[in-house]
Amino acid sequence: MLLVVNSGSSSLKLALFDNDLREVAQARVTEIGTGGVASHAEALVQGLRQAGVSITSLTGAAHRVVHGGAALTAPCRVTPAVVAAIEACVPLAPLHNPANLTGIHALARMAPHLPQYVSFDTAFHATNPEVARRYALPETVAAAGIMRYGFHGISYASLVRKMQETTGKPVPKRLLALHLGNGASLAAIRGGQSVATTMGYSPLDGLTMGTRAGSIDGNAVLRLAELHGIDGAARILNRESGLLALGGSNDMRALHMAETPQARFAIAHFCYWAIRHAGSMIAAMGGLDAVAFTGGIGENDHRVRANILDGLAWAGVDYDRPANRQGAHILHENRAPVAIWTVAAEEERQIAQEAHGIMTAEAAQ
Ligand code: ADP
Repeated sequence: MLLVVNSGSSSLKLALFDNDLREVAQARVTEIGTGGVASHAEALVQGLRQAGVSITSLTGAAHRVVHGGAALTAPCRVTPAVVAAIEACVPLAPLHNPANLTGIHALARMAPHLPQYVSFDTAFHATNPEVARRYALPETVAAAGIMRYGFHGISYASLVRKMQETTGKPVPKRLLALHLGNGASLAAIRGGQSVATTMGYSPLDGLTMGTRAGSIDGNAVLRLAELHGIDGAARILNRESGLLALGGSNDMRALHMAETPQARFAIAHFCYWAIRHAGSMIAAMGGLDAVAFTGGIGENDHRVRANILDGLAWAGVDYDRPANRQGAHILHENRAPVAIWTVAAEEERQIAQEAHGIMTAEAAQ
């Protein structure tokens, strides 16, 4: 049995997969540190109990790690060197990486001999060309790690794999992938590899999101820091902006139901910037053969999908309106020049798959 761990600062999500990679159980423990659960170690014990699994029945554990930096660009087995490299990325992801490490350490203490693996949200975008990854900043700044990494990589890797599994063929040559959830980003995927993405140094950049501002002028950020201090500016940009700031809620369903001018504007803003950034992605891969939606909004919100697809008509996009309203997986008509898909995000399964691949290779050695 393979355990997949998604360890956040105050929550822990577990998923269990059998040897055929069928998901057999899930568990979720929240309010670690503030509620009844004191530590991530305790949360692990509680989560495994919820799932009805004993730690001795595990053959391996695979963790989601948000930031792999420039060095960790593929899933791998956890070794002391890998832990050190993840620790080295803490300044790049000060909230996420320490939480991810806590899960790894807690499990290592409970089951020292259990092989552990890691998958990185940044890794899928390591194939972006240097011209896309580099900010036009001095070399010393770039050397300090201030460059574009991109995120949601596990979701994009899962999307590519699922499209391939469904069709039995490689994905269309120029694929625009839209991960639209609370966090939202786009990726230009050419020949199955990421060549551009909207998130950059951190998950703040790019699209209007639930509570994140998306792209913003660096000088506006400096002014915010002057007015509110660094922590205040960070809070505003990451937690108090986006749909929440414009429409009064970070929840797309609530915005649709509110039907206020502010809520409508927030939705329009979200779609407008998704379309504008999509133009940039399409340019980066030299055209468009397919569009794929994933994430809570991408999978479920036919109105947002329709708005974005209408905004991409200039790129040859047309779609089957009833299929879109019904939430079908294929939204294009037969022989349409641009294929359109919705794909359920299965990040846990992707992490399991990546670890399973390494375990199989290890066993063959
Ligand atoms: P996260 O990025 O936190 O994993 P999700 O991918 O679950 O988030 O996406 C959350 C977003 O998806 C919320 O804005 C939520 O309102 C939206 N969403 C979920 N279901 C629907 C739906 N049926 N219609 C519209 N929006 C939806």
